[in-house]
Amino acid sequence: MADIPLPPGFTAAKMSQAQKAFEAALGADKVFFEALDRISYQDKFAIDEARHHPAGAIAPTSVEEVQAAVKIANQFRVPLWPISRGKNLGYGGTAPELAGSVVLDLSRMKKIEFDAANGVVTLEPGVGFYDLYDYIQQHKLPYWLSTPGNSWGSVIGNALDRGVGYTPYGENTKNFCGMEVVLPTGEVVRTGMGAFSNAPTWGLYPFGYGPAWDQMFVQSNFGIVTKANMWLMPEPESLMGMDVEFDRPEDLKAMVDTIGPLRRERLLQQSPSIGNWLRAAAVLTTRKEWTDKPGALDDSVISAIRKKFNIGWWGVSLRLYGREEVNKAVYKVLEKAMSDIKPMLLKPTTWVKGQPMEYSGWTGTPMTFPMQNINWYGGRGGHIGFSPLLPQDGTKALEQFQRTYARYKEYGMDYQGSFAFGERHLVNVNAMIFDKDNPQMMGRIDPFFRTLVADAKAQGYGEYRTHLDYMDLVAESYDWGGGALRKLNEKVKNALDPNGILAPGKSGIWPTTYNGERKA
Ligand code: ADP
Repeated sequence: MADIPLPPGFTAAKMSQAQKAFEAALGADKVFFEALDRISYQDKFAIDEARHHPAGAIAPTSVEEVQAAVKIANQFRVPLWPISRGKNLGYGGTAPELAGSVVLDLSRMKKIEFDAANGVVTLEPGVGFYDLYDYIQQHKLPYWLSTPGNSWGSVIGNALDRGVGYTPYGENTKNFCGMEVVLPTGEVVRTGMGAFSNAPTWGLYPFGYGPAWDQMFVQSNFGIVTKANMWLMPEPESLMGMDVEFDRPEDLKAMVDTIGPLRRERLLQQSPSIGNWLRAAAVLTTRKEWTDKPGALDDSVISAIRKKFNIGWWGVSLRLYGREEVNKAVYKVLEKAMSDIKPMLLKPTTWVKGQPMEYSGWTGTPMTFPMQNINWYGGRGGHIGFSPLLPQDGTKALEQFQRTYARYKEYGMDYQGSFAFGERHLVNVNAMIFDKDNPQMMGRIDPFFRTLVADAKAQGYGEYRTHLDYMDLVAESYDWGGGALRKLNEKVKNALDPNGILAPGKSGIWPTTYNGERKA
């Protein structure tokens, strides 16, 4: 066990004892401490994989086994890092924040219970989007999913990191309605109406009585979610919409100022995402098909890409869901609003129940092809996301784009950016695609990322989610009141998890036991 990564202050002998205790409690077939196991739980996209090497992994299959594992973790003070399916690619995947942690892999917990009358599904963490999609197809249930751009992951894990989809149910974390959680000391709690024995309303009324805790377990290290109820969108009678392309970078301002009010009025109920020309090119082609010049793509290549795919500088897809008559009426409003700001192309799309359907995020179909973009540069591809939150203000969005685009050019990287609408905010998701076999490029990524965080901070824009490497950096940028929120988080952390065994460092929340591990 000489090469095993260990948490600070740990000895190999102690980890070996912990491993034996896990094997005794769960069975050897659920405990993985071989060198190859450790490699499979690394984050292949991280700038430096070694920073997040786990010591091993365990895969319990029931809530009782999760409790048993937590008990052992407390006994030996082993940090556990829970994952559902571990496909949080670009943010850490299966790997823990603190090297030497043991990954608590919940992907074998795959139960699905479906309340078809109410459109509520009770899921265990291992249920992937494909699993749930197949279940719905098999049982011919009239519900649609809200799938993220890369749908390998789990429904619960995605919502726990505030992942998004494209339908009116696209803010996935809002679809939680009651959870079952194993606390770091091993007790099990049910939130919302789950606290009331046998309440038929567990999956229907999210708040329960008194404080509502679901969001407390989201992006936190306060508990292990072993089950959750989630709301699904009833299959709509009709889907209408348009794919709209705009010619100039400056058109971003009018796009945001036109779509924002429609979204806030809830005339538009899904969350459209405005994206640039690289989205299509990076998925369907590779960089060397366009140019062999290093540095950011120049305008002549951008024009060639746009011409080949017949796309604008920016594109956006708007979709309406529900009754056909209502959609038809709203479509007219959308069409006028978008035509008024002079798109270069407006392509309508329409579907009614019974017709063949497009398989895309707008119909809640799981997909993985967008991940093809990591092959853009060649070599071993990877990406991380830089995703600050902005108000729905066209001028501010345009300024943010201009600042960011200038930085991409300065650091010689190709720009892949999008502005995704929430109800009142925009998430400006910037994908940093890289080639891990290009040491020169890899040397630029960290300073580039830190510069973008500092630029955004100067405008008052904080990130909504971040990679393991930057959890402390981002937590530190939430600095109001001398970091009062972080202090509260850590007070709660220490109260719930006195031994600091659950995901130390997650979201920049460190228990006292690992205080020294916070990074600058
Ligand atoms: P996915 O299965 O969708 O790929 P991940 O398993 O990668 O999602 O998890 C996303 C994030 O949420 C990770 O940071 C992970 O630590 C956290 N997480 C995932 N599942 C759980 C869970 N069941 N309980 C608590 N935290 C979790």
